[in-house]
Amino acid sequence: MLDLSAQHAAIQPELNAALQAVLTEAAFIQGSDVQLFATELGQYLGGAHIVPCANGTDALQLALMSLKLPPGAEVIVPAFTYIATAEAVAILGLRPVVVDVLPDTFGLDPAAVEAAITPRTAAIMVVHLFGQCADLETLTEVAERHNLALIEDNAQAIGATFQFADGSQRYAGTVGHAGTTSFFPSKNLGALGDGGALLTRYAGTATYLRQLANHGQTRKYHHEHIGLNSRLDTLQAALLRVKLRHLTAWTAARQQVAAHYDAVLVNIPELQIPVRDPRSTHVFHQYTITLKDAAQRDALQQHLQQHGVPSVVYYPVPTHLQPAYRYLGYLEGQFPVAERLCHTVLSLPIHPALTEAQLDYIAEVVHTFFAAPFPSA
Ligand SMILES: *Cc1c(COP(=O)(O)O)cnc(C)c1O
Repeated sequence: MLDLSAQHAAIQPELNAALQAVLTEAAFIQGSDVQLFATELGQYLGGAHIVPCANGTDALQLALMSLKLPPGAEVIVPAFTYIATAEAVAILGLRPVVVDVLPDTFGLDPAAVEAAITPRTAAIMVVHLFGQCADLETLTEVAERHNLALIEDNAQAIGATFQFADGSQRYAGTVGHAGTTSFFPSKNLGALGDGGALLTRYAGTATYLRQLANHGQTRKYHHEHIGLNSRLDTLQAALLRVKLRHLTAWTAARQQVAAHYDAVLVNIPELQIPVRDPRSTHVFHQYTITLKDAAQRDALQQHLQQHGVPSVVYYPVPTHLQPAYRYLGYLEGQFPVAERLCHTVLSLPIHPALTEAQLDYIAEVVHTFFAAPFPSA
């Protein structure tokens, strides 16, 4: 799906130098690279405040903790996302309220959000899935009208921007109360291990989040809040500083790969290429096609595999049908768009180092599947 070795080989001298510098400084926790990385990422994201932490799931939990919600408060989450979004809500004793997504862009459906709001609703968690912003215009408006906090799970769309009707443009993750991201190795900006961060344009929120991520400490051995021990290692920060310098080029390469796939797949009537929301840029964490006939999805995946092409179903089970979340009482059929997507989506290989020859081969393998009525088993 992605070739991290090829990507790392190209920048190995830079990574080695960063690693050596961390060994020499020997400040493995909260060394200078952590703050430098936070500053540089903030500059990259239009001047946002960045609070590094241990991983993207902690970032979600910390964002929710900063809202100081009473137990049982309701937080709206998408039916189609990685489980971490709902998990962060549930682990804090809050109630995930699942809402369906839009069939074309896979983002939270604002009308469904509005319909799910109750007097106990406190926040909306929006996920910018696969690298494109959800409908931030409408979701912001709904959140403001109902006095709800908007938290953006931006693990997959770092650097994507959204254009608002008033002409303003903002980076994904910097629109709501707080945003989160993940530096899991396969993310667009990946560490060589776990890592994450919170993003916010509010200085006061950043200060509070920084305290929450460090045992609720306001100064050493003085604990104003109950927090977490959630830190980004100095080593990961140093390596991420190297990678951040390449992120613009890598994003452009992903977009080129996507454009190439579009061109060679657009005429296959049995599938839908990724639909773009014209208000958002797309950083293509995933290139996800949708099969019109659910029965063809697994067969196509098998055909790809037989020809040496990896592909992944992100995600095979919607939030509300995961066994751990059965206690919420949702039923099959309740969120039909998400349920259908789980049976029809397929993500094709995408990473900055994919060559044109590889892309042409993958496209040819996809084409041969639809050309043959009975693909060989
Ligand atoms: C990767 C991911 C996370 C979790 O990030 P970790 O760093 O693995 O904890 C959360 N939400 C979404 C949408 C993700 O893709």
